[in-house]
Amino acid sequence: MTDSAQAIEVKDLHKRFGPLEVLKGISLTARQGDVIAVIGGSGSGKSTFLRCINMLELPSAGSITIHGETIAMKKDGHGGLMPANRKQVQRIRSQLGMVFQSFNLWQHMTVLQNVIEVPVHVLGMPKDKAIDIAETLLRRVGLHEKRDAYPAFLSGGQQQRAAIARALAIQPLVMLFDEPTSALDPELVGEVLAVIGDLAREKRTMLLVTHEMKFAREVSNHVVFLHNGLIEEQGPPDAVFGDPKSERLKKFISSIH
Ligand code: ADP
Ligand code: MG
Repeated sequence: MTDSAQAIEVKDLHKRFGPLEVLKGISLTARQGDVIAVIGGSGSGKSTFLRCINMLELPSAGSITIHGETIAMKKDGHGGLMPANRKQVQRIRSQLGMVFQSFNLWQHMTVLQNVIEVPVHVLGMPKDKAIDIAETLLRRVGLHEKRDAYPAFLSGGQQQRAAIARALAIQPLVMLFDEPTSALDPELVGEVLAVIGDLAREKRTMLLVTHEMKFAREVSNHVVFLHNGLIEEQGPPDAVFGDPKSERLKKFISSIH
């Protein structure tokens, strides 16, 4: 039976790159309104996990269900899987807003053009409606006055806030953040965390990969610690950060502070 409150359900996800098995069987459910922080050392598989969820990487095994719809996959003939239905992947992707460490704004487009591009040209939204939504979002992230600026003229913090507005513009069911502040100068981290914090307090469903432990503890309702392609420990933030059980998690937390 499908649970409509279930935003994402990942079951026994594996991913290998050639001989290297990067994800070794990850299962995780995000219900609507969940803010799940994903933490772990470099190379533990955090980015690969997020990228598999929106099919930027193809899983080697396991299943991914978004809002009750399981992504149909078939064997690719090389021991891995591929999507059985491209249209379905497009549809599922349009429910996931992704924000990367490196912003990835289109440099030849203004901020406003970046935000309306996918709604208008991929999702077929009328342009005036997309502009209305974009302007509201740009106000929310504090960038309305930069709507006609090109990315190169923005600070890193402004670019990342524009990237968040762009991800929100498709009106996604879930937001996926992959270390959204790791590429920023320290003085610009706060303005981006403030925007993500607002989204979390509105109970917007999100998976957030971050090294900002204090922030993760404040905004999440569940924390997952990845180690070597497996969930080593998970639980409510106060338990994971305040009373870690695994030695690896203890070590990881003390290495970050
Ligand atoms: P994290 O985000 O936790 O730092 P990643 O998911 O980026 O970790 O990477 C996990 C492991 O997978 C690393 O060993 C990395 O080198 C490897 N990896 C990631 N992407 C690829 C790829 N496209 N090809 C080969 N190896 C990869
Ligand atoms: Mg990463």
